[in-house]
Amino acid sequence: MRYKMMISLGLISLFTSCQLGRSHKAVVAKNAILFVGDGMGIAQMTSGRLYAGGSFHQMNYEQFKYTGFSKTYSSDNYTTDSAAGATALAAGVKSYNGAISMTDPKWESDHKSKKLQTLSDLAKSSGKSVGIITTTRITHATPACFYAHVLNRNSESEIAEQVLKSNVDLWIGGGREFFLPKKRGGKRPDERNILDEMTSKGNVVLDNIKDLKKYGNLDKPILALLADSHVGYYQEGKAESSLDQMVKEAVRLLSKNPNGFFLLVEGGRVDHASHINQEEKMMAEMVELDKAIGSVFRLTDSDETLVVLTADHETAGLAINGYGPHSIAKGKRILGKTIARHPKEKTRPIITWSTGPGRSLYEMHSAAHTAVDVPIAAKGPGAENFSGWMDNTEIAIRIARNLGLEFVESTNLRSMRYLNNLKK
Ligand SMILES: [Zn+2]
Repeated sequence: MRYKMMISLGLISLFTSCQLGRSHKAVVAKNAILFVGDGMGIAQMTSGRLYAGGSFHQMNYEQFKYTGFSKTYSSDNYTTDSAAGATALAAGVKSYNGAISMTDPKWESDHKSKKLQTLSDLAKSSGKSVGIITTTRITHATPACFYAHVLNRNSESEIAEQVLKSNVDLWIGGGREFFLPKKRGGKRPDERNILDEMTSKGNVVLDNIKDLKKYGNLDKPILALLADSHVGYYQEGKAESSLDQMVKEAVRLLSKNPNGFFLLVEGGRVDHASHINQEEKMMAEMVELDKAIGSVFRLTDSDETLVVLTADHETAGLAINGYGPHSIAKGKRILGKTIARHPKEKTRPIITWSTGPGRSLYEMHSAAHTAVDVPIAAKGPGAENFSGWMDNTEIAIRIARNLGLEFVESTNLRSMRYLNNLKK
C-alpha cells in the first residue's frame, strides 16, 4: 500500500516536473537582462581578463552561477552572422544569415518569409517594460532583431522607421544617421526625419546620456541616440558613453515598472574590433562589457532578476598562444610576445587571429566569424536552465519561460518544429 502510494506520488511528481519542465512555471523571474557580447568567444573573454589584471584577476562575469554552450549555426550556414544569431536570441528561431526576426522562407510551405514574435513582444504583452542598449547603431543587426522585421540587415533606413511602431520603452545606442535625411547629415535615401516623427508622436528623443538623468520614469518612450554611427571605441577614448553608464540609467528607469522588464544589452564592438584584428580595442570593449555586468549584479535583486550572458558567435578565431611567466601576459604586456622555449624556436605574438587584415593566418579585408560554440552564463531565478549544450534558439525560449511566458505565434512554432525535425 505504502509502496503503491509512493509510486503514484512519484508519478504525480514526475508528471508535475514534466509540466514544470515545459513551462518553467516553478521559477518565475520578474525581470530578465540578456547580455550579448557580439563576437565574444572564450578567447575574447580570457584575453579581456588578462588585459584587465592578468591570470589571477577575477572578472564580474565569474559571479554567474551556471554556464553552458550555445550552438550558433544559422538555418542556411554553418557559421552565423549577427542577424541570424540575434533572430535566434530574440525569437527562439533559426533563420538565414541577414534575417532580422523574419523566418527562413525555405522553411515555410509558401516559401515566403514571415515576421517573428520576439522576447520584446512577449515581455510587453505581460505588462513589462522593454529596453534595448547597444554600443553599435541601434539599427544594427543585433538590437534590430529585438524590435524590427526586415528581410535584409542592410535595410537600416527601414529598420529606423520601425522604431516608430515598436513597443520598446527605452533605446540607448548609436546610429542617428539612419534616422535623418541626407540634407540633415543623415543617410536616409528619402526626405523623412524619423527623429522629428518620433518627437511628434510624443516620444522623447535625446542625443546624450546626461539628459537621460533628467527622466525619472518611462511614461513616454525614450530614444537616446548618442552617436551618428556606432558609439566610439573605449580604448580610443572616443566613446560617447560607457556601456556601464548606459546600463545603470536603463536599470534605474526600467525598474520603475512594478510588472518588471526585459533588457537587451549588446557589447557590440567586441565584434568590430575583432573584424579588424585590433586586439587592444577588443579587450578594452570586453572589460567595459564586464563592468556593466558588475553593475547589473549590484543594482538588481538576484531573487527576481534573471541575468544571462552569451554571444551570437565568435569573430576572427582569436588565439592566446605560447608560454611565459604571468607577468608577460598581464595588462598591455599581453600585446607582446611569448617566451622561446627552444634555441631554434622564434618568439611569437601572444595574441593572433585566424583571419583578418592584421596578425592573421589568412589575410582578409575583414575577419570572418567562426563556427565555434560560444559560452552561456546565467544567474538569478531559473539560471539552472542555462547549463549544458543548447542551440542558440533555446536561450530565447528559456528566458521567456523563466519570465512565465511562451512563444505562441504560429510563425515561431512552425520554425521551431522544422528545426526539431531536421535534428531527428
Ligand atoms: Zn561580425
